[in-house]
Amino acid sequence: MPDNSVLRPHGLVIVTDLDGNETVRDTLQCVHCQAHWVVVKGSGRRRGWCMKCGGPTCGAHACEVGGCVPKEAALEAEEKRYGELARSIQGNFVPSASGILTPK
Ligand SMILES: [Zn+2]
Ligand SMILES: [Zn+2]
Repeated sequence: MPDNSVLRPHGLVIVTDLDGNETVRDTLQCVHCQAHWVVVKGSGRRRGWCMKCGGPTCGAHACEVGGCVPKEAALEAEEKRYGELARSIQGNFVPSASGILTPK
């Protein structure tokens, strides 16, 4: 297996030089922040693995020690917050002719 491959890559990048030679590299994606990186064996970059998500983490401080916050769960929590905000606004504000909400 080449140094830039993993068993189950999340994606790949293809770089073509001016002579048309292609270089293909596997990428992995952080289960917490969704960042992608090119796999380079021996790069010295410290990555992690979240046992709860069952996937790799990028090595950023927030993704390693900030606790497990899977992106999907974070998005759902955000959607819920926006839904509550929208419900709290309904009935208490009226849209102006220009589309701006103003308190009743
Ligand atoms: Zn991350
Ligand atoms: Zn996690």
